[in-house]
Amino acid sequence: MKYRSTTGKSQEVSLEEAVVKGLAPDNGLYMPLSFPELPKAFFDKLPEMSLPDMAVEIAQALFGEDVDKSALNELTRETLNFSIPLVKVDENKYSLELFHGPTLAFKDVGARFMARLLGYFNRDNKDRLVNVLVATSGDTGSAVANGFLDVQGVRVFVLYPKGKVSKIQEAQFTTLGSNIEALEIDGTFDDCQALVKKAFLDEELNQKMMLTSANSINVARFLPQMFYYFYAYAQTVKAGANPDNIVVCVPSGNFGNITAGLIAKKMGLPIKRFIAANNANDIFFNYLRSGEYVPKSSVQTIANAMDVGNPSNFARILDLYESSHKSITEEISGTTYSDKEIADTLRKTYKDKGYLLDPHGAVAYRALEENLRPEETGIFLETAHPAKFKETVEGIIEKEIEIPSKLQKFLEGEKQTTPLLADFNEFKNFLIKSIN
Ligand SMILES: *Cc1c(COP(=O)(O)O)cnc(C)c1O
Repeated sequence: MKYRSTTGKSQEVSLEEAVVKGLAPDNGLYMPLSFPELPKAFFDKLPEMSLPDMAVEIAQALFGEDVDKSALNELTRETLNFSIPLVKVDENKYSLELFHGPTLAFKDVGARFMARLLGYFNRDNKDRLVNVLVATSGDTGSAVANGFLDVQGVRVFVLYPKGKVSKIQEAQFTTLGSNIEALEIDGTFDDCQALVKKAFLDEELNQKMMLTSANSINVARFLPQMFYYFYAYAQTVKAGANPDNIVVCVPSGNFGNITAGLIAKKMGLPIKRFIAANNANDIFFNYLRSGEYVPKSSVQTIANAMDVGNPSNFARILDLYESSHKSITEEISGTTYSDKEIADTLRKTYKDKGYLLDPHGAVAYRALEENLRPEETGIFLETAHPAKFKETVEGIIEKEIEIPSKLQKFLEGEKQTTPLLADFNEFKNFLIKSIN
C-alpha cells in the first residue's frame, strides 16, 4: 500500500517512508491510498473473535503488503497484550476501557504498535538512528516513551509544557532514562507542537539527523487505533444492541482517535454515527456549526489531554469527506463542555452509577447522555484511568482514590529533564548538540 499526502503536493511513499518521515514534505499528513474493505466473512465471525485475532486480520488488510506476515502478526499481538473491556455503565451506554495498558491510556495501543513497526523497519539498518520527536499534553509522552523504551536504533525526545501536565504523567516520561529524553518547554502544548512541526520542516536539521513524529500525525500511531473500534462494536452487538444503531463517542483533542474510527467505518464497520466530544477547546464544534475552521490558542482545562487549539488530524477528516461540510455533519456531531460541566458529570456518574470516569471520559459520557436517541446504543471511549488525574478527580468526588501499582512505580523514579524556552533556535541547537 502506498501513502499519499493530504496536501497532494508530494510523492506517494511506502509505509516505511511514511512511518520514518511522519509528516509529508509538503506539510500534509499521510493517508493510505485506499481503504481495503474487509470481507463479509470477517464481519460474520467478528462477535466470536478475540481482540488480537481481529486486529491481526485488520493489520494484514492494511499493512500486509509491506510487512512480513509472521512479523506483522507477532507485533500486532505484542501490541495488544492487555485487555480492553467493554463495561456497561447505564441501560444503553457502554464504556470502552482503553486504560489497561502499561501507561493506563489509550495511546498505549498506537505507541506500542508504532515502536514495534519502526523496530521491524530498522532490523536491516543497524546503523540507522531514528529520532522521534513528540509533543505532549500528557498522555502521548508517557505512552510513546514507554512504547519506545530500549527499542534499537531509536531515540525519543518528549516535549511537554512546563507545569501543565499532571505529576503522574510527568513521571511516566521523565524517569525512564535510556533512549528517552524529556524536554520541559516554557510554554503551552501548542508551543511544543509548533517546535516539533518546525523541526520537521528545517532542512539543516533533516540533513543532520533522521527525524520522525510519534504524534497521531504518524500513520503507524493512529491507524492501529482502529482495532478497538471493531472490537467495541462486536462486543456491543454481542451484548444485545441493535447492530444498525450503534453510536461511538470519542473525547477528542488532536482528533487522531476519532479519525481511526472514521476509517474503520470506511473499511466496512457499520457504526451509525460518531460524536466528537470536546472540552472548552471548541474549534471542531464551531466548524460543525458554521462550516468554518478557525484555529485558536488552546485553553487549559481539567481534561488537559484535549487542550488543543489546532487539531492536526482535522486535515485527515476533511480529506476523508472531500472537504464536504455536509457529509461531515451527516456522520459526526459535536459537543463542548466547560470544566464545571465535566466535573458535574464525573461526580454524578460516580454517585448514581458507581462508575468512576476520568475527566476525558466524563466529557464523552455527558455527550452521550445529552445526544443519544432512544433507539441507539452508545459506546464512549474511556481514554485514561482516573488515577492519572488523581488531584482533579479527588477534588471532584471528595474522596481519595487508589493509584494502581503500574502508576505508583513511576512516581518512585528519579526525574530527569532539560528545561528549554519555547524558542526554535534553542531547540534546534539542543538537537544538533545531542548528535555527538
Ligand atoms: C490524547 C488523549 C485524548 C485525545 O485524543 P486525540 O486522538 O488527540 O483526539 C483524549 N483523552 C486522553 C486521556 C488522551 O490522552
